[in-house]
Amino acid sequence: MRDGKGVPEARIRENGGQFQARTGTITTPHGQIQTPAFIPVATQAAMKAVLPESMAAEGAQAMLANAYHLFLEPGDDVLDEAGGLSTFMNWPGPTFTDSGGFQVMSLGSGLGKVIDMSTGASPLGDSQMAPGQKRMARVDDDGVWFRSYLNGDLHRFTPEVSMRVQHNIGADIMFAFDELTTLHNTRAYQEVALERTRKWALRCVSEHHRLTQERAHKPYQALFGVIQGAQYEDLRRQACRDLSGMGFDGFGIGGALEKSQLGTIVRWCTEELPENTPKHLLGISEPDDIFTAIDNGVDTFDCVSPTRVARSSAVYSPTGRFNLTNIRFKRDFTPISDTCPCYTCTHYTRAYLRHLFKSKERNAATLASIHNERFVLDLVAGARAAIDDGTYFEYRDEFLGSYYGTTQPNI
Ligand SMILES: [Zn+2]
Repeated sequence: MRDGKGVPEARIRENGGQFQARTGTITTPHGQIQTPAFIPVATQAAMKAVLPESMAAEGAQAMLANAYHLFLEPGDDVLDEAGGLSTFMNWPGPTFTDSGGFQVMSLGSGLGKVIDMSTGASPLGDSQMAPGQKRMARVDDDGVWFRSYLNGDLHRFTPEVSMRVQHNIGADIMFAFDELTTLHNTRAYQEVALERTRKWALRCVSEHHRLTQERAHKPYQALFGVIQGAQYEDLRRQACRDLSGMGFDGFGIGGALEKSQLGTIVRWCTEELPENTPKHLLGISEPDDIFTAIDNGVDTFDCVSPTRVARSSAVYSPTGRFNLTNIRFKRDFTPISDTCPCYTCTHYTRAYLRHLFKSKERNAATLASIHNERFVLDLVAGARAAIDDGTYFEYRDEFLGSYYGTTQPNI
């Protein structure tokens, strides 16, 4: 990403200029990430119901944890003492932490408001709370006061605190502390928040440099700036120009995005940001979003959907998503997908998985999660290969046509 010993480097190849999808390699102290790459989410230094060994076996390249949750429990100092996130959670590969900004805001001032890509604007104003919700966070120019969702304790997050917490956690790639806005915020508020995020970005870089020197005995941690600006092209482009000159190793594209505008907004950012830096799209959801991200030049993205839907018995297949608890699977002794090489599909039948869900056995979530994670990992690996082969458009259109083209999926 930048020069210097131990600094991750990105090798990005052009692809004929027709589209921005690209392949590359991000090198970190804990190994390489071949991009584009799906980064599974291990919020509290654990994937829900799945061991890291299983994720490695299914082809996961990196994990993303959350600084806010780890700050509250067990405490970032504990992870530092343990030797960092990777050692602590027994995941030997690269790791990311997000800055905590999203959780501070979404569990706080954004509590109960719309931060949803698919549903559009909330009727609430800039400072209103949803009915019946208690305010848990308050933003000022210096940082954020918030109450722990665990026990109500009052905490202060500033750019400097976020950097200290993320250095202690020790992920290979960290994100600058930013103010998350929501779709209901006015244009005027978006401008205020963007300027605040710009100033916080400068403070993050300064504190990051200080901590990197102070902790020179530790593996280098890269810092990504976060681009906000909601749905406004001029604000997004301004944010990109502002942060491009600050010396970040890469960039995260953040904020509440309406699904219909996702590709357009991402494209503004990837056009404006330095070409030879990695770009991460924070928090996307479904397979079509993944293609939208890749189409528009995103290198890495994280997503909680595969495990979230798996815990409610929904599984992905090449012909769409379906629910394992359906009565039709009671005597179906075939795997979730005949073509899937995952551990679940090579060892278990739909009938058995249905039985586990109906019996409320915990293995149900584990096995369904393994399959869904593998499905997305393979989808992205296929995209990577297709970009290099020059067959990306065919691959994308065939996948999306099959996945979304039927209302009677795979049964
Ligand atoms: Zn499978």
